[in-house]
Amino acid sequence: MARVLIVGAGLTGSLCAALLRKEFPQRPLHIVLWDKARGAGGRMATSRGFHDPKCTVDLGAQYVTRVPDYAEKHQSFYEDLLTHGVLRPLTAPVEGMVVKEGTDNFVTPQGMSSIVKHYLKESGADIFYEHHVTQIYLKDGKWEVCNTTGSSDQFDIVILTMPVPQILQLQGDIVKIINKSQRQQLESVSYSSRYALGLFYEAGTQIDVPWAAQYISNNPCIRFISIDNKKRNIESSDIGPSVVVHTSVPFGTEHLEWDKEKVQQLILEQLEEIIPSLPKPASIKCQRWRYSQVTKAFPDCPGRITLHTKPFLVCGGDGFIHSNFDGCIDSAMSIVEALKSSL
Ligand code: FAD
Repeated sequence: MARVLIVGAGLTGSLCAALLRKEFPQRPLHIVLWDKARGAGGRMATSRGFHDPKCTVDLGAQYVTRVPDYAEKHQSFYEDLLTHGVLRPLTAPVEGMVVKEGTDNFVTPQGMSSIVKHYLKESGADIFYEHHVTQIYLKDGKWEVCNTTGSSDQFDIVILTMPVPQILQLQGDIVKIINKSQRQQLESVSYSSRYALGLFYEAGTQIDVPWAAQYISNNPCIRFISIDNKKRNIESSDIGPSVVVHTSVPFGTEHLEWDKEKVQQLILEQLEEIIPSLPKPASIKCQRWRYSQVTKAFPDCPGRITLHTKPFLVCGGDGFIHSNFDGCIDSAMSIVEALKSSL
């Protein structure tokens, strides 16, 4: 049985794992997934409050926008997630949102990471968190992959799904396997940076604003605020509300190397100006998104590139196409196609 390592338990990695299981029923693969984080989701992360794990906030992606071009192409993916209750139409008011004709927006009642968890469950993969891949070597026709736990393992196939700059940080034989032209193209991929603040409240706290989310255009720091439970339509008397704040990209870029606590303070000061009546939260989480959304994708947006054929080493993710749900689906499908022709 071929052993496949997928690096990254974000949307691209989890969907790759689920598709691989579906596409190769007659030739089962042993799928292993490693992620450096403590849980699933990647940039579709859903964070839990310290005081109550049921109080959650989406720190990265906020909702899924279905555009007409993808409604048909990815119909089966949307239907599957809607049928399983993972996605639901966005019905709550979002101020300042530009809604283009023919588009639909969906939220995730259990948080954005529930999309990733849905695919991980379908995949039957062996998942290991806190496994930060650092080096990849070629050994006896297989890949020897090392991680920061100090252990290494051998695989027949490796699929990398992290942001491109994190692929370029890997050491070992992979450095010389990436040829000059590929390296130049990989180095041309760029991402925006921003911060996200999650605010978690005790049950019973009232947040009196008439909207569920709002895009802000006249603040030097804050670009988006969401009363996250309201956005997801899960108002409950047992679970406290939660708020997520996204900074603008210029603020994120300017403060990228700042101390997170100082950045948190700056965001809170601006938030108080926008919503003076906002109660004091029970806990706060500040997330730095160094690689937030792709501003320049890999040339010609191929969805994936093959770095080595025998043994197979491929990389994909939103850096190879565009930053959203549909981009990651396309990337995962393209990785699986490449793998099919290699087996
Ligand atoms: P990632 O989610 O980044 O997954 C890569 C995984 O690899 C991560 O879990 C990471 O921990 C892991 N990793 C990295 N390096 C290593 C290593 N060396 N070893 C092991 N593991 C490693 N999209 C939408 O559709 N709608 C939105 O509203 C939306 N809003 C967004 C708002 C923000 C603030 C951000 C940050 C993103 C948003 N996006 C949105 C974009 C969307 O979240 C991404 O396009 C998508 O999640 C990318 O998924 P991925 O699997 O390709 O990469």
